[in-house]
Amino acid sequence: MTTPLTEILLRRIAAAGPITVADYMAEALLHPEHGYYATRDPFGAAGDFTTAPEISQMFGELIGLALAQAWRDQGRPAPFTLAELGPGRGTLMADILRAAARVPGFTEAAELHLVEASPTLRAVQADRLGPAAPVLWHDSADTLPEQPLFLVANEFFDALPIRQFQREGAGWHERMVGAANGALSFGLGGPADHPDLQARLTDTRPGDIVEICPAAGPIAAVLAMRIAAHGGAALIVDYGGWHSLGDTLQAVRAHAPADLLTQPGQADLTAHVDFEALARAAKTAAPTLHISPMTPQGVFLERLGITTRAQALAGRLSGAALTDLVGAHRRLTHADEMGTVFKVLGVAPSAAATIAGLSV
Ligand code: SAH
Repeated sequence: MTTPLTEILLRRIAAAGPITVADYMAEALLHPEHGYYATRDPFGAAGDFTTAPEISQMFGELIGLALAQAWRDQGRPAPFTLAELGPGRGTLMADILRAAARVPGFTEAAELHLVEASPTLRAVQADRLGPAAPVLWHDSADTLPEQPLFLVANEFFDALPIRQFQREGAGWHERMVGAANGALSFGLGGPADHPDLQARLTDTRPGDIVEICPAAGPIAAVLAMRIAAHGGAALIVDYGGWHSLGDTLQAVRAHAPADLLTQPGQADLTAHVDFEALARAAKTAAPTLHISPMTPQGVFLERLGITTRAQALAGRLSGAALTDLVGAHRRLTHADEMGTVFKVLGVAPSAAATIAGLSV
């Protein structure tokens, strides 16, 4: 099966040669007419994948309370930016706002800023959040206001395009998307160089693939500079690890793995997040900040009291709703589900209290 985007990419490759994996991801996800996020709401049981806030309200409630606690610990600055990167359906922010509304002064001081590339999802977010609070949308984190910043990003960085480099001897070749027999296909480009690759000769062997996400570092740097200048806290939640190695690009459609190249624009494409690269970019931009150790999502949510919250909710439920709640608690926290593969990284001023739930 070919998609309209396949034809567009094949023409582009015929005219100008193979494209990087990052270019391919950017077109597949955000092409204005045919891109995956640009054209649809992919979440939920009827969609392609489910995220933590779509599994249970408990996720957003606990993140909301952790951010509100950080805001109180830092002297309740007003006004402040309450921001989310890649808010999807707006579910996480709705849960944050509802839970944090119990903290006196928080809602009144919060200015809501969402960084979202997809017009389709901006409309869904407006429906979900509009009545409760005025929202300002941004194309990029660069334009977030110069004031205290309390921010969450869940499954945002995994959607940013990555480049892939394969080691050959002591050098590197970039993995490219080209054409073969009228279809898109992977190949290797000529010798390639990137400033981050030299250091990777020590921990790789010939044949290994190293991934670099060019957009991630600059975004982490902007968040870090806002927080260093004005105070605040950022919670970055995603799947991935510290010091990533290997090919982690994956396509998902209808809750199942899909081919990476046969249906651009119709399957979600993600790559594991390299948390070390995020932490390094934040620390370089603002050396005075404290970057937390990477904390497994299950540990983070348990420290924030997810079990107590689940028990409180369970008291009002029975039958299928109760079974769903127990299942949601397990999915979010258990090591065999999202509890270990998903990690949380926190960024806050060194002088401020540690963000609740994170390892120290
Ligand atoms: N945080 C939500 C959605 C995660 S999906 C949740 O947990 O349910 C990724 C989100 O990031 C989508 O809203 C998508 O449209 C947005 N997105 C992807 N790439 C983006 C980019 N380069 N700039 C801004 N938003 C982007």
